[in-house]
Amino acid sequence: MQQSNHISLEPKLLSFIFKQTYFGTYSMQITRSQCIIVIILLQLMLTSSTIVVSQSKPLVVASASIFQDMAIQIGGDYVDVRTIVPIGGDPHLYEPTPSDAQLVQKSNLILINGLTFEGWIAELIANSGTKAQTVRITEDIIPIASDLHAGATDPHAWMTASNGLIYIKNIYNALKTVVDEKNWPQLEKNYEAYKLQLEELDQYIFKKIKEIPEGQRILVTSHDAFNYYGSRYGLTLSAVMGISTESDAQTADMKRVIDNIVTHKIPAIFIETTINPKLIKQIAEDHHVKIGGELYADSIGPEGSSGESYIKMLKSNTNTIVAALAGISVEKTKLDNDTSGLNFSVMAGIILFLLASIIYMIRKLDHAQTNKTS
Ligand SMILES: [Zn+2]
Repeated sequence: MQQSNHISLEPKLLSFIFKQTYFGTYSMQITRSQCIIVIILLQLMLTSSTIVVSQSKPLVVASASIFQDMAIQIGGDYVDVRTIVPIGGDPHLYEPTPSDAQLVQKSNLILINGLTFEGWIAELIANSGTKAQTVRITEDIIPIASDLHAGATDPHAWMTASNGLIYIKNIYNALKTVVDEKNWPQLEKNYEAYKLQLEELDQYIFKKIKEIPEGQRILVTSHDAFNYYGSRYGLTLSAVMGISTESDAQTADMKRVIDNIVTHKIPAIFIETTINPKLIKQIAEDHHVKIGGELYADSIGPEGSSGESYIKMLKSNTNTIVAALAGISVEKTKLDNDTSGLNFSVMAGIILFLLASIIYMIRKLDHAQTNKTS
């Protein structure tokens, strides 16, 4: 299980790095000896600092931050868990870097979601020349088919705590293949405690969503990441983009979402942390609905944020959704709020103006009176 810090650059990895850097553009024009010098320099450069890996712990590489967090919760101090897509990054659109290839090459275990989530990862793994086992942690999950794209599956299975239980079971089993057997009891303890937290979270979400009046349980978001969440906890979904963020919103999708907002008098729509909020903000502005808040879907939040872990992100999403959709009468949209706000300012202005006029008149009269008497 010991990890050597020295990197032997396999030919495949090298060619991948070449392809991924500008250097590759010029490699055809340089001489053989120049090429050897560059390879040696590159070897030295990579060996010296870029990826620092613990020498004593197995290196686990997860495709995205959500799975990294799950693996940390279970693996604790026994593993060094890294993510390829950084927190806040969009895994649908991610472009692997040469240092990702290096990380994967050095790893002992790779955790991926599959279900077309990380379309780029198979090539990255193949080109890295890694010997590590790749585990698809959505194994045993029944995927939801995409409504919008025939034949496609929806990758966002982690969005329910019940599926989260399947993820963590798969991760627990995968971690046991790289963690020393003498540490398995602690691993099991971590797993059992985590399992309990997810079971509680599942119940929490069910209970919380019930606070939204039935007719208002409609969730409008940027991309279709909430199908699993909606179908488990009883929300109807309406997303501007499809299940991936790759394609720009189609006019038909936009029209469908806007029709939904108007027909159901939806009080709030939501932006997502990994997606440009421009479209949602535009819809909110044009159709006088408020932005209900920011939701986490394809990444956990940064440290200290409300979604800094997998459990916290699901909890934060639920609280944000419920706060925005519950307790507001369906008729009371932002337009109404704005109009009443405007009425209040206009009324206050008129009252102030009248008061000032009265004071002015009284003073004027007083002045005239004094002039008369003098
Ligand atoms: Zn997504």
